[in-house]
Amino acid sequence: MNLTADLTGQTVLVAGNAAAARRAVRRFRTSGATVRTLTSPADFSPGLLDGVVLVAAIDDGDGGWAALPAACRRHGVLLVREPAAVPGGQVTLVGGGPGTEDLLTAGALAALREADVVFYDRLAPHRSLDRLAPGAELVDVGKRPGHHPVGQSEIERLMIESARAGNNVVRLKGGDPFVFGRGGEEVASCAEAGVPVSVVSGVTSAIAVPAAAGIPVTHREVSRMFTVVSGHAPLTEEEHTHLAGLGGTIVVLMGVGTLPQLAAGLRRAGMRADMPVAVVERGYSDSQRTTVSDLADIVTAAATARCKSPAVLVIGEVVRQAGSCREQAAQLAGLAGRLEAV
Ligand code: SAH
Repeated sequence: MNLTADLTGQTVLVAGNAAAARRAVRRFRTSGATVRTLTSPADFSPGLLDGVVLVAAIDDGDGGWAALPAACRRHGVLLVREPAAVPGGQVTLVGGGPGTEDLLTAGALAALREADVVFYDRLAPHRSLDRLAPGAELVDVGKRPGHHPVGQSEIERLMIESARAGNNVVRLKGGDPFVFGRGGEEVASCAEAGVPVSVVSGVTSAIAVPAAAGIPVTHREVSRMFTVVSGHAPLTEEEHTHLAGLGGTIVVLMGVGTLPQLAAGLRRAGMRADMPVAVVERGYSDSQRTTVSDLADIVTAAATARCKSPAVLVIGEVVRQAGSCREQAAQLAGLAGRLEAV
């Protein structure tokens, strides 16, 4: 059972050793409660329950707590049990999906709930972090185009320093940490520093943002492969040739700025001028928008529509499926009525 209680101004007793109870203490403080702590069963006296509305019994493995539930019953105080906090001193890279809370995984939610510190990006679903990581310290290390508040090596240094100080650190990233997310570098630097590190995969925007616009990246008898490309820097002539020769769907991230070079390169490499292209901006937000054209005209269409980052480009016949899949995808994503006509 999951209950929501207003604990503002109420006294809560958290019972459990300090390391195991640290998340619960922080969470109850954040909820506005006055927190009393009891770190060892040997220190228990019934007087500690005076004025207490709730006891949080943390499962810290100490058998001495057995008498606590009976004492709570006698005093008419509610008791809830909680698992011990995850040990500190580690980093978890968490994929936050394409920006909607609906697409956070169960693993991501669990990691956030247990976090002492969260370092998050602009594209990660950060608006509800207060609720998803209650009591955690929230650090914005977001990179915006042309504006780099915290450099990559500085992010890595801060994460490691925080884990070494005993915190359970979550690095929340947009989409999946290993898809153009520099997740590999962050894992490597933690490993090098001797800090335990793990990864919770996320739903990548490369698949989910086209889906939000009703575009399946593969479709029977239309496309049996999809290639995910970074448009951060223009591709080489050889890469254009390879991509055009594959005959499958091409999904481009960070590609708004280099769209003119890509469109021209694919045309030079022999891709048909009438190949459908979609630009899906700000997937899963209230201002999600899809602009569809063909390879010959997409640069003009995107300029006219003033397409901006963040956007996912989709090049391929699957773009034509948008009409038939759109309604279904909208319903699935809870976005009915929000998608623009394509
Ligand atoms: N690791 C991320 C990608 C990081 S690169 C992932 O797996 O999704 C950042 C790029 O992702 C953006 O420039 C854009 O191309 C794309 N992107 C991420 N979220 C997006 C969203 N909600 N809408 C549109 N594009 C998005």
